[in-house]
Parts: sequence; C-alpha cells; structure tokens
Amino acid sequence: MKRVAGCYLLHFDRKIHGAQHYLGYSVHITRRLREHLTGTGARLVRQALRAGITVELVRIWTTEDPKQELALKKTRAPKRYCPKCHRRPGFAVGQVERTPLA
Ligand SMILES: [Zn+2]
Repeated sequence: MKRVAGCYLLHFDRKIHGAQHYLGYSVHITRRLREHLTGTGARLVRQALRAGITVELVRIWTTEDPKQELALKKTRAPKRYCPKCHRRPGFAVGQVERTPLA
C-alpha cells in the first residue's frame, strides 16, 4: 500500500484498561501500524498485544493535518466510528473503512 497520511482507528478484540480502541495519527499509516504490531508503537497497543489481544486496523480518515487527531478525539467517540462495533450498511467485515477528512 502506498503512503497514506491520516487518522486511524485500531480495534482490540477485548478491552485493556477499559479501552477497546486506539485512535492515532500518522503521516504513514501502514508503517505506523507495523510499528504498533511489532511492539514499538503506543504503550496501550503494546500492552494489548502482550495480553494476547488481537489488534486490528478498522478505519482510516485520510488527512494531512495532524491536528485532526485531536479534533476526532474531542468530538467523536471512537466506538461509534468503529465499523466492527457498529456495523453500517455497505461495509464488509474485515475491510478497512477509508474516508477523507477535511
Ligand atoms: Zn470497535
């Protein structure tokens, strides 16, 4: 996959420290995901993996603006925007939902 910048949502197959999602921003999401999955990313994701939790990339909001991560964190509950937790028409399971963000 070519370089994609934006916000992304990771879904955990069970909760860790009360969280079932991780929302992040990266200028290169696939590279960042690889870091997460090899244990060099965010602490929460590392802890989830260590606990045997499956971590899955479920949604991408493409944007070059890193400030959008904060906006998403403030205004949107991650769970509501998780296609795995809230199935929406037109979305196939196992597919990463990708939408542009301002
Ligand atoms: Zn979810």
